[in-house]
Amino acid sequence: MTSAVAHHSSIAFPDFLQNFQTCLKNVFHSREDIDQLSIQRGLPPYVLRNIMDCNPFSAFIPSQHGGRGADPREGIALVEAASYESLPLALIFGINWALFIQPVVKYGQEAAQKTVFKDFIEKQKMGGLMITEPDYGSDALHMQSSWTQQDDHCHLQGTKHWAGLTGWADYWLLTARHRTPDKGLGRDIDFFICAANNPGQQVVVEEKFSNLGLYMIPYGRNRIDVRLPATHRLQPESTGIKMMLDILHRSRMQFPAMAMGFIKRILDEASDHCRKRLVGGKTLHSYDQVQARLAEIQSAFTICSAMCLNTSERAGIENNLAAQGLEANAIKTCITDLKQAAAQSLLQLVGAKGYRLDHFAGRAIVDSRPFQIFEGSNDILYAQIAETLLKQMKLAKEKNLARYLASFELTRNAGEQLKKRLDVSIEPPLPQRKLVELGILISRVVSMEMVLTLGARGFDQQLISASLVHLQQQIATQLTRYKHPNQTHLIDPDRDHPSWRSYC
Ligand SMILES: Cc1cc2nc3c(=O)[nH]c(=O)nc-3n(C[C@H](O)[C@H](O)[C@H](O)COP(=O)(O)OP(=O)(O)OC[C@H]3O[C@@H](n4cnc5c(N)ncnc54)[C@H](O)[C@@H]3O)c2cc1C
Repeated sequence: MTSAVAHHSSIAFPDFLQNFQTCLKNVFHSREDIDQLSIQRGLPPYVLRNIMDCNPFSAFIPSQHGGRGADPREGIALVEAASYESLPLALIFGINWALFIQPVVKYGQEAAQKTVFKDFIEKQKMGGLMITEPDYGSDALHMQSSWTQQDDHCHLQGTKHWAGLTGWADYWLLTARHRTPDKGLGRDIDFFICAANNPGQQVVVEEKFSNLGLYMIPYGRNRIDVRLPATHRLQPESTGIKMMLDILHRSRMQFPAMAMGFIKRILDEASDHCRKRLVGGKTLHSYDQVQARLAEIQSAFTICSAMCLNTSERAGIENNLAAQGLEANAIKTCITDLKQAAAQSLLQLVGAKGYRLDHFAGRAIVDSRPFQIFEGSNDILYAQIAETLLKQMKLAKEKNLARYLASFELTRNAGEQLKKRLDVSIEPPLPQRKLVELGILISRVVSMEMVLTLGARGFDQQLISASLVHLQQQIATQLTRYKHPNQTHLIDPDRDHPSWRSYC
């Protein structure tokens, strides 16, 4: 172990965190202006070097690999600090943590782990994950990338796009299906560590994308034709697909870490602006509708805090989360919607100034938007939440939503409080749009349960009560939506659109 490693892992966490926050303040506010930086692509190399000199990823790495021990509470707090200053930076951390380091810690072979973590700790290397292909995004299980066994090597071929840190990461987790001469492409998915700077392992960037937001992070299309040592293959406990679910569910449960600082920052920016801005001789703060928006952002802050607490206790790598789809999907969908809504509210409150490309409010909207798309499109995840719940209700032979939720582990207390409101019978099969509407409702009940738990631990009771009012209102609105019959379809898409002018 180098002295630098010993140094980073022996500092008490509050000092480690403080050191990191001071570094971010220095590079983003003293030496550079983050608002200007955030409209340039990439990051000036010295800025990244300064940040990585704090060895932040050591918080994600177990002590036997030279890290600080991978305590989820430390990981969440670190990503939260990054997301207060910059959402793209937090996503870079989230990618490295959940999509590279955790999978390698949990499923990597020892021979590969040694070099990878030495590189991360001593040389500040970075890693990402490639799943998505141009023709297979949401339908990733049908990916066409394939691998064949050749002596002690695996040969991977395929095309991947939209992987965060394209052309930048030193390591990749590549996903592919096993191809054999007799059976063709297998159904399972395998994961491989690719050291992109090593001979035979280079990933070729065929095209760089002009991503709409998250300018700090490069995206593009990659051609994969690499030969990897067999020791670079991750070893699932059962199937590769279950391993992928465990990895993705953990990552989704860690989304609140990337949201925590971001929402706190939005709350700070919004309340600061509304205190200072005078409209019609009064501060914005004094208008009721402005208060409604501020209170809603504050409720998002409380919900996110509750989710971070939940994740810190339930999402450690010792737990297999493959079967925790409902919980992981409820957290991911709800928190990404809350982020986007908070950013939209901030821009509304800031007004025209917020629409400048270099203003935080506008950036916040475009930067937070893709979180609703990647790692499972929210539309699909909401439908899956409802499908899972309906399966559970069928098993329990229960059709009444309120009764079921009051008996379900993830919604017991919230379900009890909502018993009257949710006294409806669910009659499957439901059309997909109704599954989505129900899924949104369930995700808010799951969130309410977490807020109640946070409240029971002694969190600020005013914040808890206010957030519960917001959640109850959302749940009530969502139930009305769910109950309203609407099965309209696109009407004859091929005919001309009639013109209103014919009716003047
Ligand atoms: C900023 C950003 C970062 C990303 N980072 C990564 C990364 O690091 N690694 C990686 O591998 N990938 C990454 N992705 C890719 C991302 O995971 C995919 O974009 C996502 O899985 C959706 O796939 P797609 O874009 O092909 O959309 P499609 O699969 O074409 O889906 C588009 C939309 O169609 C609808 N839809 C699709 N299927 C259904 C269905 N069954 N039912 C109802 N509606 C449906 C949904 O509204 C969905 O949003 C990233 C994408 C973005 C934008």
